[in-house]
Amino acid sequence: MHYLAFAVLLTIGPLVHTRPSSEIQVDDVIYTPEQLQFFEGNMTSRIVLSWSGYYWKKSTLVYSFGVGLSSADQALVKNAMKEISSQTCVKFRKTLSSREPQVVIQRKDAGCWSYVGYLGVTNQELNLGSGCMSSRTIQHELLHALAFYHTQSDPQRDQYVRIYPENIKPGHKHNFNKLRAGAVTDFGLGYDYDSIMHYGPFAFSRNGNPTIIPLQANAIIGQATQLSPRDVATLNRMYC
Ligand SMILES: [Zn+2]
Repeated sequence: MHYLAFAVLLTIGPLVHTRPSSEIQVDDVIYTPEQLQFFEGNMTSRIVLSWSGYYWKKSTLVYSFGVGLSSADQALVKNAMKEISSQTCVKFRKTLSSREPQVVIQRKDAGCWSYVGYLGVTNQELNLGSGCMSSRTIQHELLHALAFYHTQSDPQRDQYVRIYPENIKPGHKHNFNKLRAGAVTDFGLGYDYDSIMHYGPFAFSRNGNPTIIPLQANAIIGQATQLSPRDVATLNRMYC
C-alpha cells in the first residue's frame, strides 16, 4: 500500500509543481539579418524580398542527416515529416548531392532550433538535441524550416494575447518581437491560438509568472501536439 501511494505521489508531483514539459522553453529560431528587417523596430533598410522568397521550391524541402542522429532518431524525423506531408502539399526529399541547397538535420548541441524557410545554402542547419525528439517538437522545427515564424510574432497578436515584458527573462525579449504588418501574411486565416508554433504562457519566464496570456478566456496556447487545422491550411496556401 505504501508503495502504491509513493508511486502516485511521484506521478502527481511533477504535474503540480512544474510547467508542462511539452512547452518549448528554448530560444529555438534563428532569423537571418535580412529576415530581422521584417520585425517592428528594425527599419534600418528597405525590405527587398517578400516573405514568400523563403518558401521551398516545388513544395519540396530538401534535407540530409548530419552528425549525431541515430537511425532511430532519423526514423522519428521521417515520421514527423510524414505527419506533415500526409495532410498537406509539402514534400520532403533526401538530397542526392552535397551541392544542393538543403537542411542538414543534426545533433550538434542540446538545443532544438532551426533557421526559417529556404535560405538557398547547402548547410542550413536544423538541430535536434536528445530532448527534442517528440513528434511535436520535430514538427515545430520543420515548420520553421518551411518558413513559419512563431504565432506570437504575428502583427495582429496584441488583439489576441497580452505579453508581460516584466516577467520575461533578460536577454529573451526578442522572442516576443512582432513582425511588421504587411511584411508577412496569414492568408486571411486569422490568429491561431491552437498552432503548433504558439509558445505557452510561461515561455521565457524569469519568475514563474506568465509571459503570454490569451485575451480569449477559453483559449489554450502552447499545448498543441500536432498541426492545428489552420497550420494545415496555411501550409497548403504556401505550398499547393
Ligand atoms: Zn520555435
